[in-house]
Amino acid sequence: MFYLLIFLLQMKLIKLKTDLIKAIKFDKSLGFVPTMGSLHEGHKALIKKSQKICKKTLVSIFVNPTQFNNKKDYKTYPKNLKKDLSYLRKLNVDYIYLPTITQIYLKKHDKIKLNKSQNILCAKFRKGHFEGVLDVLDRFIELISPQKMFMGEKDFQQFFLVKKYIENKYNTKVYVGKTIRDKNKLALSSRNSLLNKKSFNESGIITKKLLKLKNEISKNRKNYKKLIFNLKNELSKNFDIKIEYLECRNTQNLNTSILKKPFKLFAAYYINNVRLIDNF
Ligand code: AMP
Repeated sequence: MFYLLIFLLQMKLIKLKTDLIKAIKFDKSLGFVPTMGSLHEGHKALIKKSQKICKKTLVSIFVNPTQFNNKKDYKTYPKNLKKDLSYLRKLNVDYIYLPTITQIYLKKHDKIKLNKSQNILCAKFRKGHFEGVLDVLDRFIELISPQKMFMGEKDFQQFFLVKKYIENKYNTKVYVGKTIRDKNKLALSSRNSLLNKKSFNESGIITKKLLKLKNEISKNRKNYKKLIFNLKNELSKNFDIKIEYLECRNTQNLNTSILKKPFKLFAAYYINNVRLIDNF
């Protein structure tokens, strides 16, 4: 009990809004890393990035119900609070915010709507997902007012939408951190713990094929539709997966003109009932 108390005092584990406001009142250089927990090296890299350029770092753990378009996905989302807290303690994080759903959704907010051109990739397949993400981050930023916030490139569309929305409304700058990958190249994700060994290995092989495809497209952009078509066929034939999308989009506005602009290859697929996304 004594050690738990010391640990909590050092790390400032905060559950109430009022305590949070008090704790960070005088912090003029605060970096914020929002997470849904089940932390891994991808989260760690964002925390380290924040610690490098901000005096204090705040990490939130909140599995936000409104961004799940599927009840089962919400219920089975991996949770690992005890492990997460010890992970964050080792990283010397200054504040951990663990709000309850009621605390976060106490206030009524105007409904956020994506426009038609934003209804692509994950927004098209996960109805209401980004509206939920933007709404919850709006609530967090309104409360915390951090100078900087850190998000992963792994969820590039999320980063893209959040950056635009938050920087337009608040004085918070949104930074992106590189995708951290497993040894087999699969992007780290909390959901990877739901994969069995076979699907984990296969996702690694698929990831390598997607990386290769991105390289081929970079060398032969004009032919990108054909190259994507061919790999889609190959993957569907050789693996028990359901591809939701495999598309190239430019990184300036996420539309499909990629011939003269920097672009990314975006992928989402189900393997063993687990939905994985990545971009290259
Ligand atoms: P999550 O806990 O999945 O909501 O993710 C919290 C933050 O970590 C988001 O900004 C994600 O984009 C980022 N993130 C998740 N996985 C990775 C990864 N493999 N590499 C870098 N950032 C990541």
